[in-house]
Order: sequence, then structure tokens, then C-alpha cells
Amino acid sequence: MTNADVQTWAAVIGIETHVELSTKSKMFCGRRADIPDEPNTASCPACLAPPGAPPVPNEQAIEGIVTIGTALGCTINESSLFYRKNYFYPDLPKNYQISQYTFPVCEFGSLDVEVDGEPTTIGITRVHMEEDTGKSSHVGGGDGRIHDADHTLLDFNRAGVPLVEIVTEPDIRSPEQARAYGAELQRIVRALGVSDAKLEAGSMRFDANVSVRRAGTETLGTRTETKNVNSLRSLQRAIAFEIDRQIGVLEDGGVIVQETRHWNEDTGATSSMRTKEESEDYRYFQDPDLLPLEVSAEWRERVKASLPELPAQMRARFRNAGVDAVTAEILVDSAELAELFEAAVAGGAPGKLIGNWLTGEAIAWSRREEIEVNESDLTAEHLIELATMIEDGKLSSTAGKDVLTAAMAGEGAPHDIAAARDLLQVSDEGAILEAVDMVLADNPDAVDKIAAGDDKPIGFLMGQVMRHMGGKADPTIVKQILRDRTKGA
Ligand code: ADP
Ligand code: MG
Repeated sequence: MTNADVQTWAAVIGIETHVELSTKSKMFCGRRADIPDEPNTASCPACLAPPGAPPVPNEQAIEGIVTIGTALGCTINESSLFYRKNYFYPDLPKNYQISQYTFPVCEFGSLDVEVDGEPTTIGITRVHMEEDTGKSSHVGGGDGRIHDADHTLLDFNRAGVPLVEIVTEPDIRSPEQARAYGAELQRIVRALGVSDAKLEAGSMRFDANVSVRRAGTETLGTRTETKNVNSLRSLQRAIAFEIDRQIGVLEDGGVIVQETRHWNEDTGATSSMRTKEESEDYRYFQDPDLLPLEVSAEWRERVKASLPELPAQMRARFRNAGVDAVTAEILVDSAELAELFEAAVAGGAPGKLIGNWLTGEAIAWSRREEIEVNESDLTAEHLIELATMIEDGKLSSTAGKDVLTAAMAGEGAPHDIAAARDLLQVSDEGAILEAVDMVLADNPDAVDKIAAGDDKPIGFLMGQVMRHMGGKADPTIVKQILRDRTKGA
């Protein structure tokens, strides 16, 4: 922070997120929507808009947006309208973008996030349907921005790809919350299977609206909007930078201008792009080519009934199975680990132990070997077998970790590995009894102390017994026998 006085300022953040849907075809025509690498090979008259190419809405895309809205707890409007948002840009051949305005498909939802154990509910203002633009590449100077570029290349493959925009209320209060919101939204969209939501590839991108105000005041400050932020880390950094910058300007007696800003990953700073346009500037009007969009009650119900399990539900289920918050989060983010976890727990293994193994030893091992856990030889059966061996006292938990990594490396089933490595614990009471009696006979002083009520020597005696047994006795049984034998002494 640049100012000592920052404590007296509070940040307000609202996020607009664009998500490209992975439909077969584009939003208003039959061209493929999976963008090919070769430029300008997937566009048609309806994308390029010469006269006389009417749009026809894509049913799969409508299903996609209804699915997202339903997962975010929105009201799904029975009827919504398409508008033309008018502006010129070379990658927008129609000179308008088909979007929604006053009557979007979905409204009034919410999303819960938690940062450092503190839960917050972030309101979702609306989720609306639009089409993506083409792609401009500004080349020959100016770090990819138009200003100092030599020329611009245009690729219309992306023009008309179905785009969903998700807008939050200004309910976010910190860069960390913004990041948590972005991460959770990405998980939800992926769980729904409607988009690959790849930030680095641009199929999900954030615009961050940021303002600051005096702590404790109600009125919102003037916001800036930082466009097209393409990673969760950048989202957090860009917002933190912007909060800091705005506080600096206000502390110096300046004013914040409402404007669109650009995040530069390399410099870690935002810079002004253009003064912010108001919605009036776009001369929105209802698209005369498109009828009101109807989503029947039956359609809404069907989507609701077929929603998959959402990340929050999955997280709650893992917590109920005994894992901590951090472990649950790792499992939610890895379908492969989650699958192993679920199969092992369904087979009777304790959730806490399996969770710790998978997110601790298994991940550490796979990083060393540079392969994914699911590409290792580890199976749910291995996990169950291993957990049972530890529960039955056949293996110490420390040895269990070694057996786990050996099983991942393909050395076989846990019991075989433990036997081959001579790690199996003796839980045969006869053998342990023999060793205990020997140790007690050798240490009469310790026995006397225990008899006099001083339990301290027990640890020492345990160590002696374990030494006699080459470290392979089940410590629980050793302790029990030691107690039994010294009690009456
Ligand atoms: P526009 O398209 O003009 O940016 P939207 O309504 O689509 O307008 O999005 C505005 C976003 O800015 C919303 O996420 C909203 O919550 C947020 N927002 C509005 N006012 C403020 C403010 N004063 N400070 C921070 N965020 C704000
Ligand atoms: Mg905006």
C-alpha cells in the first residue's frame, strides 16, 4: 500500500465475466463454434453480416445459459429480448453486437465464497446471452495494443461464438474475495460442462470494476473497469493495484475518472484505455430480426432436474467424509483425486486418512515423478488395503506412506510391498509378550517407578521392546501389554 492512511478506505468490487460456450455451432448461425487455428476458416455470411443474413438462435446455447443461471440460483425469465449494441470495431463486421439489455435470460442469483474461513454471498445481477466478436491482433510494435501497432490482423473465426456474460452486484470487498469468486465460477461452469472456461485461452475472461470509498460510508465511489483479465492471479493483482492507485489519487486530492483500464501483466500495473462509455452511448435497440426468446416452464424444470453436483455440494460431501477444508478444496479441483477418494471411502476406508494421503504423499510423489496421480499404478483397492493394514496394526502409519509411494510406482499391492520390504508389524501377542518380559526383567528400576505411580519410564520401556523386535511390533499392543504387566508389579 502506498499510503499509511489506507485503513480509512474500503474497496468495492463488481465483476463481469464472459464465458464462451462450447456449443457445436455459433450463436446465430450453423458455423462451427470450436475455433480452428487457421484464421478465417469458420465464418459465414451470418457472422460477417453482408446484407440479408438473418440470425437464428442456437438452442444448445440457450440450454447452456439456462444451466448456468440455474446453477447460480437465478430467476430464469420466461421471456427475454435480444438487443443490438451498436459500436464500431474492425473485428465486429456488423457494427453491432447482438446482446441482451433490459430483459436478460437470467437475473437475481448469488454465489457463496469463503476466504480465510469467512463466508460471503455475492449477488449475481444478471446472466445474459450475447455473441463473441472476431479477434484483432495488433502487430508491429505497441506490445499487442492498438495504439502503437503497425497494422492489425483480423480473424473472424470467433465472431458469433455464443458468449454468456455473468454480472455481479458490487458485493465484493477484497482482491482475495474477487479471486475466490472467479475460481468458484470457473469450477461451476466446468462442472456444468457448458464451457472449458480456459482463462489462458480466453474462453473465460474477467472485467473488474473497482472503486474505493471512505470506510463506514454508504455511497459508492466512482469505478474504473479493468478489461479482459485472463488469469485468477492477475484478477487479484489488478484489483489490488487499482485499489491502491485510487486511494493514492484521492489522498493526493485528485478525482477518479470513470474509465476503462488495461492490465499489464509485465509491469503489474493498470493503465487508462479510454473514458468509460455509458450504456446510452451504445444506442441499444431491440433486434428486429429476433423474436422474444421463450424459455418454457418445462424447459426450466428439466434443466433444474438435470443439474450435476456443484462444487459447493461436492465440497460439503468431502467435509462430511472427514477431510479438512484445504484437502476438500484440492479434491474438488481434481476429478482424478476425487474419484480415487470416493471409491476408497465407498470401500470403507477412513476419509481423513485417504484425503491426507492423496493430497499429501500422492501429490508429492507425482510431482517428483512428473506424472499425474491417476497415471500412476495407485488404485482405490490399494488405498483400501493400505488403510485396513494400518487400522489392523499390521503397518505403522509412517511405513504406510512409504508403501503408498511404492504402490504408485507400480511395485504391486500394499501387502506384498510391505512384506517384501519387511515392514509388516508383529501384532502376534505371544512374541510381544516375550519381548516385554525380557525388557522388564532387565529394568527393575523402571518397573518400580511405574509401580510407585510414575508413568514416565513407559516410553523408555516401549523403546526397548521395539528395539528387541526390530521396530516391527504394533506399538498399540506393546503399550497395552506393558501397562498390563507393570500394573500389578
Ligand atoms: P457496464 O457494462 O457499463 O460495465 P454492467 O452493469 O454490465 O455495466 O456492469 C457494471 C459492473 O460494475 C457490475 O458488476 C457492478 O456490480 C459493478 N459496479 C457498479 N458500480 C460500481 C462501483 N461504484 N464500484 C465498483 N463496482 C461497481
Ligand atoms: Mg462492463
